[in-house]
Amino acid sequence: MLKKITERIYLLEHERKTDRPSLGLIVGEKGSMVVDSGNSPKHAGEFLQAAEKVTKGPIKYLGITHHHWDHIVGMEKMNIPSVGSRKTQSRLKDMGNWKWDDASLEKQKKDGVFNDFVINAIKGEMKEEERKDFRVAPMDIIFEGKLTFDLGNITSVMLEMDGPHTEDTTLIYVPERKVLFLGDSIYGSRKNGKFGYDREKLFMLIEAIRSLDVAYYIVSHESILDQKEMEEFFGELERASKAAGAETSAKEGEK
Ligand SMILES: [Zn+2]
Repeated sequence: MLKKITERIYLLEHERKTDRPSLGLIVGEKGSMVVDSGNSPKHAGEFLQAAEKVTKGPIKYLGITHHHWDHIVGMEKMNIPSVGSRKTQSRLKDMGNWKWDDASLEKQKKDGVFNDFVINAIKGEMKEEERKDFRVAPMDIIFEGKLTFDLGNITSVMLEMDGPHTEDTTLIYVPERKVLFLGDSIYGSRKNGKFGYDREKLFMLIEAIRSLDVAYYIVSHESILDQKEMEEFFGELERASKAAGAETSAKEGEK
C-alpha cells in the first residue's frame, strides 16, 4: 500500500532486506509521474498495482534519480516513458552490456562493482532464470539542467546536479507541496575501495537543497525527513567533513 505524504504525493516505502528504495508518485489532474522504477520487476509491479488505486488519469512519466541498479531495474516492467539526465543515460548505455546471472554477479564483485549485500539483494528479488536474459535499457526522454512537467494542478521539476553519491544526480521537486525527492544524493560513495564523501560536491549539493522551500524530504533509503531532521543530517555531515578534510567516511550509507 502507498503511504500518503501530503495532498497528491504518495510513497511506497523502502525495504532494507533486499535494499528496495522508496518509490514516489506525484498525482496530477492530467497525469501522474513516478519517481524511480524499483530494484526488480516484482518491486515495480507491486508499486503499479498500489498506484492504480490513487491515480486520477494515466501515469505519464517515470523520473529517474540516478543510474544505480536498485532505481532502474524495474524500468522495463513499468513500461512508462522514462525521463532522466544525459549523464544517467550514458551510464545506462554502459550498463546495457552487463549480464545478471550468478557467474556474472560474482565477476562484478571481483571487479568491485557490487558487494555481497547488493548481490544478495539482487538474488532475493529475482531468480537466476529471470535474470539470465535481463538487460538494462536506456531511457526515453533525456534532459540537461532542468525540466518541468505540468501534471495538472501540480508541477514536477527535475533538477540535474553533481553530487557526492554519483555525478548523475537528479532531484525531483514538487513546489506546490514542498516535497523533494533526493534519491541517494546525500550519501557518499566508494572510491578505491574506501567509502567517503567528496567535501566540495557535498557542500554544493547541501547549498542547492537549502535554496529550495521544502517540508518533506524523501531520501530513497530513509524514512521521510522534515526540515529539522534534514538540517540535523546536514549538520552532522558538515561537522564530520570539516574535521576529516577533503574526504570523510563519517556517515555510512553506501548505496
Ligand atoms: Zn545509489
